[in-house]
Amino acid sequence: MSEKEISVAIVGGGISGLVCAARLSQLGITNSVVFDTGKHAPGGRCSSRYITVNGKLHIFDHAVQFFTVSDQRFAKIVSFLNNKKAVRIWPGRIVRLRVDKEPEDVKNMQVFIGTRGMQSVPECLSSLVHVEGDTWVSSVLWDTVIKKWNVNDRWFDYLVVAHNGKCAARLMADSGAPEIHNLLKVKFGPVLSPHTHVMQLCSLWVLLLALPHKMALSYDAAFVEHSDISWIGNNTSKYSENQMECWTVISTKTFAANHKVPQEFIPPSKEKEVTRLLLNGFAEVTGTDRKTLTPCFTKVQLWGAANPLNVLQGAGCVFQASCNVGICGDWLVSPCVEGAAVSGLALAEVICQHTKGERKDVGLKNQLQPLETAAIGAFPLNKHLFFNPLK
Ligand SMILES: Cc1cc2nc3c(=O)[nH]c(=O)nc-3n(C[C@H](O)[C@H](O)[C@H](O)COP(=O)(O)OP(=O)(O)OC[C@H]3O[C@@H](n4cnc5c(N)ncnc54)[C@H](O)[C@@H]3O)c2cc1C
Repeated sequence: MSEKEISVAIVGGGISGLVCAARLSQLGITNSVVFDTGKHAPGGRCSSRYITVNGKLHIFDHAVQFFTVSDQRFAKIVSFLNNKKAVRIWPGRIVRLRVDKEPEDVKNMQVFIGTRGMQSVPECLSSLVHVEGDTWVSSVLWDTVIKKWNVNDRWFDYLVVAHNGKCAARLMADSGAPEIHNLLKVKFGPVLSPHTHVMQLCSLWVLLLALPHKMALSYDAAFVEHSDISWIGNNTSKYSENQMECWTVISTKTFAANHKVPQEFIPPSKEKEVTRLLLNGFAEVTGTDRKTLTPCFTKVQLWGAANPLNVLQGAGCVFQASCNVGICGDWLVSPCVEGAAVSGLALAEVICQHTKGERKDVGLKNQLQPLETAAIGAFPLNKHLFFNPLK
């Protein structure tokens, strides 16, 4: 079979799935389909909300806030995104905040954002690949006779699982690849259970708010300590088209665990309570009088499966050679955009090798390792601060 005839089904159009498809295509495997549930666009946790407030469209980043670059392979992707005008460096001032303490600058961290919200990143990547959006993959089955994957009643030579959480574990449960299913089993909680052999994910609440007036703060974003809040970020400092002061406030893992409800059916009373608590926390950490904090728009969202607390480090991806199936995602490298992208690249290369006859399992026996990160992800301080992938 020629490379062009090889078909790959990629379930998940987040950064890992999109990068995997794009790299496969670069390697000559052009017949892949990325299935994603996104109604408006793919992107998964790297996406934005475009919200009309007072008749004008405003951009809010409601999960990924920025990304960093420390890996040369990812740097190449960022250069490409920059050439396509999808990303830029954000010169905003990022600090560490503790109640009653002076803000402390986060140093040695070069920060990138999308040009029209973080959504610009998956938008640009998806222009390179074939995406079937608004599609829920509900069944996958490995046929041992014809050695192909049946995915929602269509046949593919390879299957890529580019998402995690309960859905991925459920999807793979009766797929005919029990080792892959085992790796995808998942627990939830804000603190990693000791000696766990199972992937663990935390949840995070996010509050979006728009203020009619500018806040007199000396910084644009902050990692927050000793509060119910872990991060605050000013979207208006990122996106000049925003006319109001638009902030994203992200809770801690513990706060989210204490206010856990089904993500799809958030009771209005919980929505109100979380909005009130996060607004109070926002006022407290920014030293603002709560009475003067009168947003003209608020929206809360729960990311039930927000970020992994342990990662299956080692290979960057998982691949089972006997049944043409692989996994990519942030939890195989590190919980961040860069980690997801590097994992997608790794899996594409393994699949390409497999098509050329290299019948090797990858990462199947690796162990999950705990990883200490910020609630919103892992951001290795940039050793080469002046290494600029945008050049
Ligand atoms: C609140 C929050 C803030 C964050 N902030 C940052 C940050 O500032 N910087 C940073 O680098 N990282 C941040 N992260 C982490 C970052 O979002 C992730 O590491 C990265 O986006 C993961 O990409 P992925 O491709 O592995 O998975 P995902 O983005 O989760 O993509 C998986 C995709 O698969 C789809 N899918 C699932 N099941 C199916 C199915 N059955 N059929 C079809 N499609 C399916 C999902 O809808 C989703 O689109 C943050 C995460 C959260 C939750």
